Amino acid sequence: MNQKLINELISAIGSDNVLYEDADLVSYSYDATPDMPSQQPDAVVTPETTEHVIEIAKIADKYNIPIYTRGAGTNLSGGTIPIDKGIVLLMVKMDKIIEVDAENLTATVEPGVIIQDLNDAVSKHGLIYPPDPGTVKTATMGGSVAENSGGLRGLKYGVTKHYIMGLEIVLADGKLVKFGGKTVKNVTAYDFVKLFTGSEGTLGIITKIIVKLIPAPETRKSMLASFKTLDDAGNAVSSIVAGKVIPATLEILDNTTINVVENYVKAGLPTDAEAVLLIEVDGIPEVVEKEAKVVEEVVKNNNGDIQIAQTDAERDKLWAARRAALPALAQVSPTTVLEDATVPRSEITAMLRELKRIAEKYDLRIGTFGHAGDGNLHPTILTDERNEEEMKRVHKAVDEIFEAALKLGGTLTGEHGIGMAKMRYLGWELGEEGLEVMRKVKEALDPKYLLNPGKMVQRSE
Ligand SMILES: Cc1cc2nc3c(=O)[nH]c(=O)nc-3n(C[C@H](O)[C@H](O)[C@H](O)COP(=O)(O)OP(=O)(O)OC[C@H]3O[C@@H](n4cnc5c(N)ncnc54)[C@H](O)[C@@H]3O)c2cc1C
Repeated sequence: MNQKLINELISAIGSDNVLYEDADLVSYSYDATPDMPSQQPDAVVTPETTEHVIEIAKIADKYNIPIYTRGAGTNLSGGTIPIDKGIVLLMVKMDKIIEVDAENLTATVEPGVIIQDLNDAVSKHGLIYPPDPGTVKTATMGGSVAENSGGLRGLKYGVTKHYIMGLEIVLADGKLVKFGGKTVKNVTAYDFVKLFTGSEGTLGIITKIIVKLIPAPETRKSMLASFKTLDDAGNAVSSIVAGKVIPATLEILDNTTINVVENYVKAGLPTDAEAVLLIEVDGIPEVVEKEAKVVEEVVKNNNGDIQIAQTDAERDKLWAARRAALPALAQVSPTTVLEDATVPRSEITAMLRELKRIAEKYDLRIGTFGHAGDGNLHPTILTDERNEEEMKRVHKAVDEIFEAALKLGGTLTGEHGIGMAKMRYLGWELGEEGLEVMRKVKEALDPKYLLNPGKMVQRSE
């Protein structure tokens, strides 16, 4: 990037907000996704206001420089790698909670706000913002909206898209647009709020977000159910929901994951179980009691044992164990290739069997955990990028995992997005016609492919 452009960026947003020395850039050449190429950007800019973002977009448009918007960089699809060089637009300084409107049950935030910080602010009003990815303490609101993140409470409360009511967006040419607002009902125009939610930084830069809040549940009960077979655990998942109980959280850890997690956090997980389910029901006390009883019965009918957390400390220990799954797996091998193919809940047992078959076929160690209640599993292949022969088997196994999920009526990604990692599979799910629709939308909003190029949408030849 030439000095003239750097100077223009500095005069637009100040020298404190423009980094261009190698030592500053290297940390932005990759993100949390393993097994991805890395690329150093030409500059990293840290806007403090929407006006700064507008100025940066105009400069990038003038010089045809790509912009990669980045929050905390915790995505797992290679979504923030500056693959064609250019500008990384780091949103972390735009971190104000602008308003908590307890009357309308909304909050308005800047994109750099950390999800947990929003929850801490709204909890004073007896409210919650339910989407809670495993990275709730580090991930930004902008990143989670652009990724349409899910999390541990998706089964009962839904995912990010169910809570986004309004967005302010800077487009590729620097124009500012606003869609949606604070009203529960809003059917004005196309649903652009939904279009930009989950657009992975490829359609616009989110500069303000209006979210829906809900009253915090009065009480909750957490349970640990252990099973001798994966089939029993999978069947218990569908039976709980079929029994008309929608737990807030219904998570699974397989034997590999249980052992690795137990070794890492010492939460008292049964290391001889083939699978455990971590279940939480919440709501008003009478309902919680009733639902916990149904869960207990279902677990017993599926040959499982159940333990109920008696104190907050016991509960916290269980959920800390679940949140430790990926970091714990990452400790046992140099590379962890984690996928999030998702199937209808009724197919969870079939998918677990498929994962076992694929692990055996390619002679790989796969730890599986995830949001079983959503049919959203995270098979995690424990491998080593330096072992070329093994990586070939890993890539074949990944292809087969996606194939299996699609055959079972599922989808490529339940929450981690397409990014760079899954772009080549997109046609399997959407077909050529679907890809063409994506391209038309992309080219209408970003004809020069300046916003997060190389992610999600394949440029037409
Ligand atoms: C240990 C671990 C556990 C995880 N658990 C979960 C989980 O349970 N559920 C889940 O869904 N995900 C999970 N993730 C993935 C990830 O944490 C989430 O997707 C998170 O919401 C990303 O937020 P971020 O701020 O890190 O975004 P980034 O990674 O910085 O960016 C994500 C995407 O959003 C775009 N983007 C960022 N900010 C903006 C903006 N202001 N405007 C437009 N585009 C923008 C980027 O270009 C990129 O495409 C996990 C990741 C890890 C490492």
